[in-house]
Amino acid sequence: MSLPPCPACQSPYSYEDQGRLVCPECAHEWMPGESAADEHAAVVDANGNTLADGDTVSVIKDLKLKGGGGVVKVGTKVKNIRLVDGDHNIDCKVDGLGALKLKSEFVKKV
Ligand SMILES: [Zn+2]
Repeated sequence: MSLPPCPACQSPYSYEDQGRLVCPECAHEWMPGESAADEHAAVVDANGNTLADGDTVSVIKDLKLKGGGGVVKVGTKVKNIRLVDGDHNIDCKVDGLGALKLKSEFVKKV
């Protein structure tokens, strides 16, 4: 199998269905040959709202930082986010914790 991973959630379990590619994990559908690199996959929050650079979001669950760096508490407001590629798709600064990366599925737009 050499199907590309899902451009929305990077799941490797995409399959082909009637000429389209389908992701069983997030239900995203796309056309083969559509390049994930050209089209910036939309970054959406926990409610499915599209996020953009400069947005303010609030964290919806306690997030432990790797390496014992502390915890981002639920309800923490994060201003001026920057969208980046990768598993953790939000680059930001949190008061008291400094620069860190979050997953968009654990935040909501405020
Ligand atoms: Zn997916």
